[in-house]
Amino acid sequence: MTALRPPGPAAPFARLAEHLPDPVFACNSDGSVLAYNPAAAGLAGTVGLDAPEQLLPARHVEYVHECLYHDEIAELADTRVGPFTLCWTYVPSGGGTAVHVLGRDVTDSRRTEAALRISEARHRLLAEQSTDIISRHSPGTWTFLYASPAAQTLLGYAPEELVGRSSLDFFHPEDRRAYQERGPSVAYERGIYVATYRYRHKDGHYVYLESTSRTLRDPVSGELLEIISVSREVSRRVLAERATKRLARIVEATTDLVAFFEPNGRVTYLNEAARRVLGIPYPENKCLKLAELMPAAAYAQIEREALPTARLGGVWSGETAFVDAMGREIPVSQVVLAHAGEHDEIDYFSTIARDISERRQAEEREQRHQAEMTHVARLITMGEMASGLAHELNQPLAAIVNYARGAIRRIHGEPPAELPVLAGVLERIAEQASRAGEIIKRLRSFARKSEFRRAPVDLNKVVGDMIRFCRPEARRHALELRAELTGTLPAVLADRVQIEQVLLNLLRNAMEATVQAQGSGHGPSTHDASLRTVTLSSACLPGGVVAVHVADHGHGLPPGGPEPLFEQFYTTKPKGLGLGLSISRSIMEAHGGALWAENRPGGGAVFSLSLPAAP
Ligand code: ADP
Repeated sequence: MTALRPPGPAAPFARLAEHLPDPVFACNSDGSVLAYNPAAAGLAGTVGLDAPEQLLPARHVEYVHECLYHDEIAELADTRVGPFTLCWTYVPSGGGTAVHVLGRDVTDSRRTEAALRISEARHRLLAEQSTDIISRHSPGTWTFLYASPAAQTLLGYAPEELVGRSSLDFFHPEDRRAYQERGPSVAYERGIYVATYRYRHKDGHYVYLESTSRTLRDPVSGELLEIISVSREVSRRVLAERATKRLARIVEATTDLVAFFEPNGRVTYLNEAARRVLGIPYPENKCLKLAELMPAAAYAQIEREALPTARLGGVWSGETAFVDAMGREIPVSQVVLAHAGEHDEIDYFSTIARDISERRQAEEREQRHQAEMTHVARLITMGEMASGLAHELNQPLAAIVNYARGAIRRIHGEPPAELPVLAGVLERIAEQASRAGEIIKRLRSFARKSEFRRAPVDLNKVVGDMIRFCRPEARRHALELRAELTGTLPAVLADRVQIEQVLLNLLRNAMEATVQAQGSGHGPSTHDASLRTVTLSSACLPGGVVAVHVADHGHGLPPGGPEPLFEQFYTTKPKGLGLGLSISRSIMEAHGGALWAENRPGGGAVFSLSLPAAP
């Protein structure tokens, strides 16, 4: 093997070549090798070549000519020698007569470069296939340096439309302000920064993007080079979260009692109203049981009815009760909902309860009022019946008594009457008769005793109350109850319950008469709404008298005029008692007022009551 023999003036270079780890050749202008260095000989030996020249590229002679022709250094394509990759450099020397050829071993760097290329391609592929937007930005201005194709899908912009523009331009103005105020550079200093912003879509609407950004710094100087972001659309999630938050606020703020509890009865949540009403310092009390919040009977109802029904159908509702910290019962109307987990088994229940104490009290008041009215009605009826019966029965009864006593006298006279047994019977008749007389006497005095409790009464209000009271009944017959009230009605002094009783009687009669004349409202009957109306009106009559008229579209008054209607036991109804109008008239007269009836010009009747205005 020939060591590198320097062609004349390049002697110092030859010495350097001697120590180079890469092969170096000195060649003539025709390409023939004049000398080579030990590295060339060594490499040729390693790869099993006969001569170091065989390391040179196949087009070596061509390269030599070109290098000399252009008189400049030429770096040429790589060649493979065994497992090595060599990169060749041709350097003209000797004033255009010779060429130095350097073969650099680039095996490792070429392998690294190839790996890098593959990895880059892989990353690009990932970025381009990703449904998230992957983007690069210059620090500070947030100018897009690159955006992946997902930008088109999520924001409507082609990546090239974004490059060169600042990401901040797409922020919702509020989010941009928040971003600028928060000084996110602080966060970027630390590396990764996650934030959710509204970005403007090309169409003009905003989408929520959650971006994870990371800074890239120069490893030596620490200078901030660029920011890489991965952004995904989270609109649906953000909107769902907001809706949930809003709902949670409503649940917390509602005046109804809301609780969540597990199937074992452990309460996991009580809203503010529930905590306040029940006096529970929850959430401090972590092991609260629903059973502790309800009276035993109510909780038993929940276990027996509510939970099984909710499990089957999702929901149960009913009336139960809660109990507060002082042990007071709070009646509630309650709804229980069952909530299924992932595997369809019920994992918790929720309940919404409304305090119905006031409704209960109102119902009780109403019931008491009704009971009172019925009671008074019964008293009045009894009174009326008593005076009627007394009138009709007193004289015959007295005659029976006299007759019976006479018979007894005669039986005991001379000669004694026969059939002494008759005496016993007659005595019993007398006994019974005087007892009947006693009963009648008692009833009569009782009827006389019933006193009025007079107080100032607003008749407009009584009319309104009675209409409300009768409306369900009217609705059943497709009737309308209408009020035409005079605004300035003086009060009257009256027993309110009795006046209500009179009005109720007139209203019921008017409805019955209308149904009789116009049909029940169910079959083929009049559907002319104006004919299915009962009108209650109030008026001030001359002489300080207040009146209420009840006008209907019934069959009107009988040909004989209205007076028979006010007599006791006058009725045209199969189940009628014929007492209502006569009692009503007595009530009105006892109040110093009146009750009368007239035919209505257009058909039907008008019943009117009047009372003197209170002084
Ligand atoms: P009852 O309703 O039990 O029959 P009332 O004394 O209240 O007793 O009525 C007596 C009768 O007067 C009724 O049977 C009916 O024939 C007649 N009457 C009552 N109100 C009206 C009315 N608005 N229109 C026509 N007839 C009426």
